[in-house]
Amino acid sequence: MSPPEGNRTASGPKALPSVDRVLRMPGVDTLIAQHGHSFVAAETKRLLADWRRALADASPAPSLDLHEKTVVSRLTAAIEARIAPPLRPVFNLTGTVLHTNLGRAVLPEAAVDALMVAASAPVALEFDLASGRRGDRDTAVEGLLCELTGAEAVTVVNNNAAAVLLTIAALAARREVVISRGELIEIGGAFRMPDVMRCAGARMVEVGTTNRTHGNDYARALNERTGLVLKAHTSNYVVTGFTAAVPEDELAAIAHAAGVPLAVDLGSGSLVDLAQYGLPREPRPQDSLARGADIVTFSGDKLLGGPQAGLIVGKADLIGRLRRHPLKRALRVSKTTLAALAATLALYRHPEHLLAALPTLRLLTRSQGEIVKLARRVAPALAHALGADFSVTDAPMQSQIGSGSLPVDMLPSAGLVVRCNDTGKRTGRRLAALAAALRALPTPVLGRVADDALVLDLRTLTDEAAFVAQLGRLDLRRSAP
Ligand SMILES: *Cc1c(COP(=O)(O)O)cnc(C)c1O
Repeated sequence: MSPPEGNRTASGPKALPSVDRVLRMPGVDTLIAQHGHSFVAAETKRLLADWRRALADASPAPSLDLHEKTVVSRLTAAIEARIAPPLRPVFNLTGTVLHTNLGRAVLPEAAVDALMVAASAPVALEFDLASGRRGDRDTAVEGLLCELTGAEAVTVVNNNAAAVLLTIAALAARREVVISRGELIEIGGAFRMPDVMRCAGARMVEVGTTNRTHGNDYARALNERTGLVLKAHTSNYVVTGFTAAVPEDELAAIAHAAGVPLAVDLGSGSLVDLAQYGLPREPRPQDSLARGADIVTFSGDKLLGGPQAGLIVGKADLIGRLRRHPLKRALRVSKTTLAALAATLALYRHPEHLLAALPTLRLLTRSQGEIVKLARRVAPALAHALGADFSVTDAPMQSQIGSGSLPVDMLPSAGLVVRCNDTGKRTGRRLAALAAALRALPTPVLGRVADDALVLDLRTLTDEAAFVAQLGRLDLRRSAP
């Protein structure tokens, strides 16, 4: 059979090859052997339909290169794009270390190993090997968490939002939950305290004012309908000036005098004193428990540096009520999460090794001096890849911890600032095009555009060689999105 001849460039839909003809082009047999006939045929149809639309929509019609080689390489690229795994690794150079949209904490090696083991074999998840009887999946982390926090018991759910929801639902459904007006928090992504209360079936009773809440505000609100006093850590904002809040020990005494438990939502929470690393201090769950809190909730993938999870620690009888609630079954975590969480928590048994073993802590404590050196090393490679149209300078900047930590607690950092050389009015579009080109790299690079510049914070750049190696593939001819 002779190869298709004639028009090598098309300017009208009629010139496009048929699906059959594409499937017979040299090299497509390899694609079919790899991916199957029906998948390759479907991708071919889709590609031809895209071209047909492009030819019909544009006037004057663009001319398409229809050489066999070009068609096959476009088809190969389309197939590769379609089968690429959806959760590709990226370079997070946004300046936010625990970036919720980028999956928050990067797991420690020990946690990744444990997760793989649990994923690839049956494990004694809810099975007591000693007695041969059914067990509880919380057992995987309970001993460790009790040891680390001084809690009597522990239960783990999908995330901290779930932990707060379950706590309220199990302890205060159809009852009242007393909370300060200063703590009606909204965390990103539709977690708003009044809505969570409603979802859990509890009636929220606000006490005090936005800036000041006193012990007698709580005391007056407590009655026989009260199921819970809730204290929420206002992690992502500050109220300063004429303010007052009731300390946990005082609040615990007020709640207990009325026979009501106190739950504290810490949000991030840290099992170690972060001040020893020169970081902003975060409240520790063990301190809240020691001050009399009956339940404390916090996240697994914020400052703890582990997998996404909601950790609930506290009194054995209350944790028992949480475990027996039907929501617990709906919000429980998988064996892989528990394996990774247990391995992460185990690192806290050796605080002196924590810095080396926990990527989150390593990134947060990276010194500005080290990051400046890194920025100076990689700046020439980026400048070379960007060419004459852009200038690249290294500069000091400020990173954020992220994930609901205070935006005012900044970490001195450094990175690269990219500016357009001619400062015309198309600067915004050119920077957007540059950001898009960086996102189109094999390992997408994510920075932020601010003040007429593209900023890459290098605090979180750990694989310098991989970053530099792919810069040669930067394609600046791509148009802005
Ligand atoms: C982050 C946060 C939550 C939600 O935790 P997730 O793990 O994201 O579900 C709840 N409360 C506070 C105070 C938080 O900071």
